[in-house]
Amino acid sequence: MKIIITGGAGFIGSALVRHLVRDRNWHVANVDKLTYAANVESLKSVSREPSHRFFPADICDAAAMDAIFSDVEPDAVIHLAAETHVDRSINGSAEFIKTNVVGTHVLLEAARRYWSNLDDAARNRFRFLHVSTDEVFGTLPPGNFFTESTAYDPRSPYSASKAASDHLANAWYSTYGLPTITTNCSNNYGPYQFPEKLIPLIILNALEGKPLPIYGDGRQVRDWLYVDDHVKALTRVVEHGRVGETYNIGGRAPIENVTVVRHICEALDALCPSPRPRRDLIVHVEDRPGHDRRYAIDPTKIESELGWRAEQSFAAGITTTVQWYLDNEWWWRPLRDGVYSGSRLGLLTPE
Ligand code: NAD
Repeated sequence: MKIIITGGAGFIGSALVRHLVRDRNWHVANVDKLTYAANVESLKSVSREPSHRFFPADICDAAAMDAIFSDVEPDAVIHLAAETHVDRSINGSAEFIKTNVVGTHVLLEAARRYWSNLDDAARNRFRFLHVSTDEVFGTLPPGNFFTESTAYDPRSPYSASKAASDHLANAWYSTYGLPTITTNCSNNYGPYQFPEKLIPLIILNALEGKPLPIYGDGRQVRDWLYVDDHVKALTRVVEHGRVGETYNIGGRAPIENVTVVRHICEALDALCPSPRPRRDLIVHVEDRPGHDRRYAIDPTKIESELGWRAEQSFAAGITTTVQWYLDNEWWWRPLRDGVYSGSRLGLLTPE
């Protein structure tokens, strides 16, 4: 299998690339512009593998995308490249529209040009998997779950840009027959996640005895999925999913943010004892504008149709993740010491 992965130097993309190269022996063309969120160190374990080729390119660059399709001649594309941090989208939405909407359009068109010149057998085999988020559905009333037929109601610049890209992928299937599939996944966590996102931020602040910021009352519910489970779901969908369909991916683990933070504190206290319980560091900060209250996925379709199910429990996944950050300071220290700034959470900026 020859595959183009976009965004393969990011959090989920790099986990996918490591899995496909190491465990599946697929030939991966990794296309990434290397924004602040990318880290080539996350690809260290595969960088010397002949089955992994890295293309530093912007998905908005049509000529570059055409050249990569001609060079690689892929059987499939898994498209993850995106601007992904909601807080950043609130402060500056332009990059989100550019990459997530315009970039997805450029990539779909490059894929269509390539695909339309294939012979019949190759055209039938080709897949374009568009990777998206459950945030496109907006917020849920207590006790409810998103299904594949939930109406779109994006409420942040990030989720609006992802919603637009989902519609483009679906339209390219309906209008041109390009064999697209879309997945909408819940919040991911795990090793190699950029330390501006909630779980690594809390782990590293707690480790350094810094405040643990929680938006508002912290009772917002997110449905957490361990990143390797997401990667296995994407692999299953690209191999066996039905074209023109969407699949929701979630771990059946809806949890309030404040509970997530307490779990992390307990895991850290157990793995790396400190004189004071880490939960004492929790501070509630002003809530994010338009902050959705509840996201929760009903993954019945992917479970029953494709036989995928999340394997990692939240408690086990958090312990593994905390241990990984304890063991891999070489990876996160340079990011922590300088790269990220500009978040609404002033607490993110190193003191
Ligand atoms: P990330 O921010 O860690 O990585 C994104 C990657 O895309 C980076 O390596 C970046 O350099 C690259 N990129 C950005 N703009 C680009 C451009 N114009 N051209 C080429 N490369 C570009 O993101 P992530 O958390 O790994 O998310 C990956 C995908 O999965 C995104 O599409 C996101 O919407 C989706 N998703 C994420 C989550 C989550 O919880 N992280 C949940 C559901 C869906």
